[in-house]
Amino acid sequence: MHRRSFLAAAAGSLAFLSLAGCAVAGRPAYAEWDSETVKRKFGEFAETGKMPGDLGAWLRDPSVQEIEPFQCFDNVWYVGLRWVESYVIRTSAGYVLIDTTENPGHVLRNLKKIGVPYGDVKYVLMTHGHFDHVGGAVEVKKALPNARFAMGERGWEEAISKKGPDKNAHAARMIPRDIVLKDGETVTLGDTKFLALSTPGHTWGTFSYVYPVFWNGKRHVGVTIGGLGLNAIEGPSQVEAFIHSMERLADPALGIEADLTAHPFTTGLIEKIPEIRRMRKDGLNLLVNRKEFLEHLEELKANARARLRKMRG
Ligand SMILES: [Zn+2]
Repeated sequence: MHRRSFLAAAAGSLAFLSLAGCAVAGRPAYAEWDSETVKRKFGEFAETGKMPGDLGAWLRDPSVQEIEPFQCFDNVWYVGLRWVESYVIRTSAGYVLIDTTENPGHVLRNLKKIGVPYGDVKYVLMTHGHFDHVGGAVEVKKALPNARFAMGERGWEEAISKKGPDKNAHAARMIPRDIVLKDGETVTLGDTKFLALSTPGHTWGTFSYVYPVFWNGKRHVGVTIGGLGLNAIEGPSQVEAFIHSMERLADPALGIEADLTAHPFTTGLIEKIPEIRRMRKDGLNLLVNRKEFLEHLEELKANARARLRKMRG
């Protein structure tokens, strides 16, 4: 082979090699993270207060985060991101959306994909003031002409005040106060009642929503717990409040059976999606599992108690 053509061929194969290398490098290691890995990374974040670099990259990568919507119950669809939820619930008088995520374009596209007319969304129930739950509110409000937005008083403060627990909070990026919920208040749309419970801990303003979910027409009780992590803790009293809130949600009188989690990695929801998609309407719904719900609460409480011990030395 002529020296020049050899060099050209070598350069060509190098280019091929680097392209191939690119294709491998183009799928970062975090793309394969399972729920346990994400949980561990968030645990690190909560303990050190420093966001691990690869966790930040995972959170910001749309190719990982923008997952397809899926139906959880007759009346409930997941329309959120891989790491943070948004659910839409159908009632006899329109739809209720829970949280907006920080990627409103994704949530709005998902609503369209499952056939929810924007004008039929009547309420957006928000859990607390952190950007990952309300960061999309401005855009979502623009797109949903008939929606009222609801949150607890302190949640609104967290979202609007620059002094709130979320450094990203900024009044200019949040809608003005709309409905201010009180603990124990019910939001009713058509045939469906949403019980709003103040469950402080993750932030002081965190609310959780308890609502009916149906599978094959059978009624169950679901919950979206507003806040799960201890990453915005000011002191021991807030951790105590968290434990108390989790105990409150375990109350048999509430009868919660389905844990429609605020963050899918906390319950392994992402791994369950293929099975959820295969669920038969006349079979069991694998999200109905009070035992698993109570175990999740126990795990959250155990983490909180460990945190308290650490704080108190
Ligand atoms: Zn939060």
